[in-house]
Order: sequence, then structure tokens, then C-alpha cells
Amino acid sequence: MASLSEKLDRVVGKKSADALKAAFSLETAGELLRHYPRRYAERGKLTEIAGLEVGEHVTVMAKVVSVNKRQMKTKRGSIVEVVLTDGSKSLECAFFNQPWHMDKLKPGFNALFAGKVTAFRNKLQLANPDYQLFDSTDEVDAEEFAGSLIPVYPASAKIQSWQIAQCVSQTLGMLDEIEDPFPDELRDKLGLAEYDASVRAIHLPADWADVESAKTRLKWDEALALQLVLAQRRMASGARPAPACPPRPGGILDAFDQRLPFKLTKGQVEVGHAIAEDLSGSHPMSRLLQGEVGSGKTIVALRAMLQVVDSGRQAALLAPTEVLAAQHARSLAEMLGDLAQGGQLGGAENATNITLLTGSLTAPQRKQAMLDAASGAAGIVVGTHALIQDKVSFADLGFVVVDEQHRFGVEQRDALRARAGENVSPHVLVMTATPIPRTVAMTVYGDLETSALRELPAGRSPISTNVVPVSEKPAWLDRVWERIREEVSKGHQAYVVCPRIGEEASSEDTDEGEPPKDSGTDRRPPLAVADVAPLLAEGALAGLRLGILHGRLAPDEKDRVMRAFAAGDIDVLVATTVVEVGVNVPNATAMVIMDADRFGVSQLHQLRGRVGRGSAPGLCLLVTEMPGGTATRDRLAAVASTLDGFELARLDLEMRREGDILGSSQSGSRSGLKMLSLLRDEDVIADARVVAQALIADDPDLKPYPGLATMVSQLVAEDRAEYLEKS
Ligand code: ADP
Ligand code: MG
Repeated sequence: MASLSEKLDRVVGKKSADALKAAFSLETAGELLRHYPRRYAERGKLTEIAGLEVGEHVTVMAKVVSVNKRQMKTKRGSIVEVVLTDGSKSLECAFFNQPWHMDKLKPGFNALFAGKVTAFRNKLQLANPDYQLFDSTDEVDAEEFAGSLIPVYPASAKIQSWQIAQCVSQTLGMLDEIEDPFPDELRDKLGLAEYDASVRAIHLPADWADVESAKTRLKWDEALALQLVLAQRRMASGARPAPACPPRPGGILDAFDQRLPFKLTKGQVEVGHAIAEDLSGSHPMSRLLQGEVGSGKTIVALRAMLQVVDSGRQAALLAPTEVLAAQHARSLAEMLGDLAQGGQLGGAENATNITLLTGSLTAPQRKQAMLDAASGAAGIVVGTHALIQDKVSFADLGFVVVDEQHRFGVEQRDALRARAGENVSPHVLVMTATPIPRTVAMTVYGDLETSALRELPAGRSPISTNVVPVSEKPAWLDRVWERIREEVSKGHQAYVVCPRIGEEASSEDTDEGEPPKDSGTDRRPPLAVADVAPLLAEGALAGLRLGILHGRLAPDEKDRVMRAFAAGDIDVLVATTVVEVGVNVPNATAMVIMDADRFGVSQLHQLRGRVGRGSAPGLCLLVTEMPGGTATRDRLAAVASTLDGFELARLDLEMRREGDILGSSQSGSRSGLKMLSLLRDEDVIADARVVAQALIADDPDLKPYPGLATMVSQLVAEDRAEYLEKS
């Protein structure tokens, strides 16, 4: 008999264990059992081919339409060509020099086929598939497929779904009964199935009802563990004292408000009040401010920082990149004018100082900046997220603003709260332009209060977005460059965004994390700034002033390019996703996104938010070679069809694996949610939050419930490990 912590090689043998580890980092029996089926195939029910994603390894139930063998034209050897169908759409596959498939695959047979989806001449193909037959009697493992529901696992070329199924059933056979972490009375109250039965049923269900009750139970495990951790964090952070920063009439904030060149929107006023009140209190504010790109979050943050400066303390503003930090420092200084020239000739009464503190400063500059932070001479310190890891000390840090947080997880927020020193936590405001569905707010940001700016300041122009499908309409690409020339001739500027930097030796060639989706060997590499820029300069955009911006440029070069673009000295900026967040050049009206299919939905939405920031309408062109009718193209069409960030965020969640929640990464990981869907399980998440809150209020350490306490400590431990690996 074995336990959940048993190493897999002792359960399923070395060969399978190695494959499971290589493909999915699964190492123990428990981890394998949390590798849940993605769905279930039913005999005779075919998988819809239209929904397949190009580049993904898939397992589909399909029917064989035809099987043909022919000689290869240029090389020696034969090809067996097989056409599969789901009843309406067809999928082709080919086997090279494996003539025996002729005898195994017959028209009319149903089978599970597994392989990578590719697109060739506008047709979907399955490259070198593997398959498991159901209809030919000699191939069926009668016992394995006795039930009518066949689990289909996330699989890879290294280990197919049906091999995983075999490993799982072997593991379940060797396992002792798994202890239930939920106390009986809680399980009864919630009407949930037992844990052991649910784990077995999810992998080997007798029927659909079995699947449903198992799913509900397993979702509750994930939701409750998560909400217990968050409830603990809320309790702990609320219990720490914070520096109270009440407003000071006649101070710098009042002076700033008097010179604001515009009227605050209703949302800005409301959120401003809520923040002002939080800052006045002696418990740390933990607030999330959501607002579409251009909704005016920066002013809200600046006004809050000024309130803190008025109370004699310091505020820090953290940006995800050096470019953005530098830009923030510049624009804050501009907005404040002589209010940012404290102690200088010409500085206003009440004036403070803004200090930029980033890795790219020269040693003497850095020393001065550190000194300004430590002495309190700088009322506002602007930097990258590294500021909280660095040994920067502050005279009296009262408030931290984190801009564009989507790479800023709970762990970092915790580190940050520990920064004010001596048991005092600074107030924290996290700002995001990614609209966050309610359920995500309850999980990823479950330790924060949330507010939102829902209206854009008056006078903004709409952005129109179009898909440019170059595989079907090659001539449209010429039209794209003509449009860019038209914009420039009107005195406007444009961005051309590429997924890759290029000229690389390294494979880690993307900017600031967030790699473009793995595309496999069957697609050409994503377009690179280093290749596209010279092509445009000599060809379609010859004569225009082109600039290049990406994460591998030296920091002062990046800064120089951004300044030149902001000043209008560059017409077209060819860049990577460094322009994704926060870059604000109102005169830029057009954006061309090359290989748009390599970006996620939210990322595209963020990117296009860079145009249409001024009074002229914005234009965003999504260039792709993906054929129509693929899931990828549908996704691009969705981005083009709506500017509703909340809708797109939902879509993105649906498309993307929901990833880990407490950690710093957005992509899947071992501590991630396996069963719970942030999109579809709003009820479970909301209910679990209430249950968790009550349990933690009762006993923050969960002493009466050792099963739950273990669940929580495992989640926290996994997550810590994950975080340490990444930082
Ligand atoms: P966000 O960070 O939310 O994307 P910003 O704070 O950068 O947006 O604001 C975008 C632009 O709108 C800035 O140029 C800012 O000065 C301007 N702005 C902010 N609030 C208002 C307002 N109430 N009325 C007019 N313009 C505003
Ligand atoms: Mg911003």
C-alpha cells in the first residue's frame, strides 16, 4: 500500500514516472491524482474539430473517413494519409514510412487520436499522431474501457492520455484510503461527497452524476484552502498598525488640486475619498484600483501620495519596468511643477521632491537617490518593483503605490507590507488596467479591498481594431503600411509591435516575462523587432523616422528612445511588449501588432490602449497568418469586436489556464488551481469565502481542524517554494 507522498517511480515504474515528470513535473502519487482529466470521451461521440487550437497537443475522438498509401515524390518511402472527421469538419494526418497503419486504421473506425495540431495551406492537420482504437476488437483493452466515460487527460508527445489513465488507475489501486481534510460536520453541512470517493470518481467515473459530485467536492477543496489562506492574510495585515496620514488642509494636496487643469471624473472623486479615509486610519490600507487604460488612475495615486507627504511621510511608486518608472517620475514632476522642487530656488511653498531610483542609475546618482530616500528629502520615490527587494531604506515610508500589478503577486505584496519596519505596515494601493472579474478579485486579490474607475475622462476617442489575415488577404498588409504613412503624414505617430526581440543567442528572448505562447517546431519563429525594423526602414516605411524599443536595450538608450518618441522625433516605434503598460504618448494614433496570434487577449487589449489616448481616433491592426476558422482567429476577432475590458478578461481567463493564484506567476504551476475555474465557479468561491472567514474568525490557526490546517500549510509551502524559485 502506498500514500500520496509516494514517489511515482515506485508506483508506476521508472519509465512512466520519468515521462510524467518531464511532461508535467509530476513526481508523487498525490500530484498525479491531481492531474485531473480535462474532459471525458464517450464512445461514439466525436470531438469537435473546429475548436482545436493550432500548436497544441490534443487528444480527440474522431472517425476515420479514408486511408490511402502513396509513394513520396521526392524521397524514397511511403506516406499513409488518413482523413478524420468529427461528423462535419475534417482533420488530416500523415504517417511517414509506417505502412502498417494501413492495416490498423479502416474507414468507419472510431479512435482517440493524439498529436500536435498544425495548420497547413489553411487546413488543420495532426502531425505524427498516436492513436488508440475502440472499434477494432483486437486493440481494445476490454477492462480499461469498460466504463462508458473515458477520461481524456492533458497529455503530451511524451506520454499520451491513455497511458496517463493507466498510470492513474495503477496508482489508485495501490493507494490506502485518503484521509478527508474536511471535518465531517462541515462536509455534511455543505452536502459534499467524501474526499477519497471523489478522487477515485474523477478518474474512473461510473457515470456523469459521479463526475459532477466529485468535481464539486474537489473544487471546494481548492476554493476553501485558498480562501482560508486569504482570510488569514487579511486578518494578519489588518492587525498590524499603520502610519495614520490624515489630510492637512492648506498643504501640498490642496495646492495641487487648485491647479489641476481639468475636473476630476466622478469616479476619481469617489475613489479619492475612499483612499483618503483609509490613509487617515491607523490600520494599513490594502486596496486594488481597477480602471481601464486612460481612466486616470495616476492622478488618483498622486493625490493620495500628496496626502501622505502632507502628513510628513514618504510615498513610493513602483512600476513594472524601468521605462515606466522613468516615465512616471517625469510625468509626476511635470504635473507637480514647482510643487516638486522642494528646497530649490523657485520651489513652491509646501513643495516636495521626486526621486527616481532604478538599476540603471550611475553609482553616484544611485547613491544620491538612496540618500534622498533615507533622509526623507524625497517625499516621493519612484522605482521598479526591485525597490522592495533592494536594501533601500526610507526615513518614514507611509504609502506604497504599485502600478500595473499584473506581475505582482500576493507574496510581493506581503514583502512590501513588511517594508515600513518595526511592526508598522505602509498603506498599499495596487493599480491595474486589466479589468478583473469578480471571482478573480475574490481570489488573486482576495487580500485587498477593491475599487474601480469605470468612466474615461471626457474627450477620449474610440479605438477601432481590425484583423489583417495575411494568409487569406496578402494585399491587406500593403494597405496596413499605407495607413501608417497616412497617420504620419497627418502629424501622428505609430507603434509596430513584434513578439520577439531578435538577434539573439538566448532562447529567453521576450521582454519582461510573459513569453509568447510556445509555438512548436512546425511554425516559423515569431517575428522579431530586429528583423522587422530594417525591413520596414528599407521598404514599406522608407523615409519615415523609425525607432526601436525593447527590453535588451541599455537603460539609458531605452530612456532616450522613449523621450524621442514622446517628443515626436520618432514617427514609428518598432517595439516589443515593453510598450504594453502605461506608456503614454497621446499623439500616437495607430498600432500594428505583428503575429497578433502570439499574444493573449488581455495583452492585446493592453497594447492597443496605447493608441487613442489623445483626441484623434485610435487604430489597431492585428496582423496574423493564422487561417480562419481556428480558435486563434476567433480570439482575435473577439478582441476586434469589443473594447469592453471586462468581457475580454473573461475570455482570456477561459482561454488561458488559470494559473496559480497566490504566487507571482500567471501561468500554470504545481500550486495552481486544477479543478476550480475562476470563471465558472463564482458560487463555490463566494461560499468558500464566507465559510473561510467564519472559520478563521473562530480560530486563526484552525487548531480544531487539523485537516484544514494541513491543507492551508501545504498551499502556503508550495507557494513559497514556487516564489523562491522565481525570484
Ligand atoms: P491610466 O494610468 O489609468 O491609464 P492616466 O492616469 O495615465 O491613465 O491618465 C491618462 C490621461 O488622462 C493623462 O494624460 C491624464 O492627465 C488625463 N486625465 C486624467 N484624469 C483626467 C480628467 N479627470 N479629465 C481629463 N483628463 C484626465
Ligand atoms: Mg497608468
